[in-house]
Amino acid sequence: MTRNETLFNRAKSIIPGGVNSPVRAFGSVGGVPRFIQKAEGAYVWDADGTKYIDYVGSWGPAIVGHAHPEVIEAVREAALGGLSFGAPTEGEIVIAEEIAKLVPSVEQVRLVSSGTEATMSAIRLARGFTGHDKIIKFEGCYHGHSDSLLVKAGSGLLTFGNPSSAGVPADFTKHTLVLEYNNVAQLEETFAQIGGEIACVIVEPFAGNMNLVRPSENFVKALRELTAKHGAVLIYDEVMTGFRVALGGAQSLHGITPDLTTMGKVIGGGMPLAAFGGRKDIMACISPLGGVYQAGTLSGNPVAVAAGLKTLEIIQRQGFYENLTERTAQLVDSFKTAAAETGVAFSADSVGGMFGLYFADRLPQNYADMARSNVDGFKTFFHGMLDKSVAFGPSAYEAGFVSAAHTSGLIEETAAAAKEVFKAMAV
Ligand SMILES: *Cc1c(COP(=O)(O)O)cnc(C)c1O
Repeated sequence: MTRNETLFNRAKSIIPGGVNSPVRAFGSVGGVPRFIQKAEGAYVWDADGTKYIDYVGSWGPAIVGHAHPEVIEAVREAALGGLSFGAPTEGEIVIAEEIAKLVPSVEQVRLVSSGTEATMSAIRLARGFTGHDKIIKFEGCYHGHSDSLLVKAGSGLLTFGNPSSAGVPADFTKHTLVLEYNNVAQLEETFAQIGGEIACVIVEPFAGNMNLVRPSENFVKALRELTAKHGAVLIYDEVMTGFRVALGGAQSLHGITPDLTTMGKVIGGGMPLAAFGGRKDIMACISPLGGVYQAGTLSGNPVAVAAGLKTLEIIQRQGFYENLTERTAQLVDSFKTAAAETGVAFSADSVGGMFGLYFADRLPQNYADMARSNVDGFKTFFHGMLDKSVAFGPSAYEAGFVSAAHTSGLIEETAAAAKEVFKAMAV
């Protein structure tokens, strides 16, 4: 048995499924999850000592590369001063100011510890602000695992959602309407019928949890116009896209000013840190100023804030996003070329340092498109690449992430491996 296998067996006896977050169990690709021993730059090492070029990047946070020396030093320094106080610190102000500077729609911000908390709190806030209960989300978008967001679409347009997880009462999801991503007509019709009852629309401005799905320009425009017209709050869930697709997030690429924005992943630089923020008049509804309750023992944790601040500093250096965007495009282009040479049905897309690989000949527009892609093709590709020491997220429904440590040479190395895997898949 490999050490990965031994650890997985041991883990399964004490941790449900052997993991602390389901996708890590390799359930959808089969095989044994790699237990990571350490990570540095673009690489991770598993428990058997195998080194992989890593395109998971902790699902996004590792944008400056794993264990960046400056981030580690900032964490070390902060830790020496104490791990948590349960009282305000100056660092929290500095990172809040930094976020507001980089994302101008954010006039005020509150720090939390996970993306789940950020979206859950933003939705409560939107409900408190508008006095309405109903919310709209889109099929295939993930906004963390709070009850009212674990929903699948109802049977008809205005049928509210059903729980997508056991343990969520139908009463908790009956206010959540699940619409199709990129479907402008459906959104318009919904607002025409019940626009006045909607508290908020929450959207992944580039969907990254059904693989990468790009929104159309019309969809983005409709989201902003319809919510504004009907007094609903527009929440851009930028937990994944924030500081990932561009320095100013997806909203800077869309030229859209959402009412609220949720952030996570990159802003913690690998530590548990997330945030929600936006219009001052809305943010004023949160306690202790307003009646919407929200709190956290470890919120604004000084060590997490130090990691986040250093990460935000590094990503503002000259040429950071130009390089990241270029290398990510290089990766995607080389894969497309390799697939075309072998005749494997494949397409790919990227935005900033985030990419999507699809075993389908067209880019997906929504969840139904994505579900029609060749998931078995992905599995074969995934394991073929893993055997060649390149790690992608273990599911066809996940986006991939490039970091500043992925040099052009490493991308070429990855592309050469992909070429061989595509070749093997074609025969
Ligand atoms: C990851 C993610 C979340 C949840 O964040 P956690 O920190 O895992 O709770 C929410 N929204 C989006 C868009 C995400 O990608």
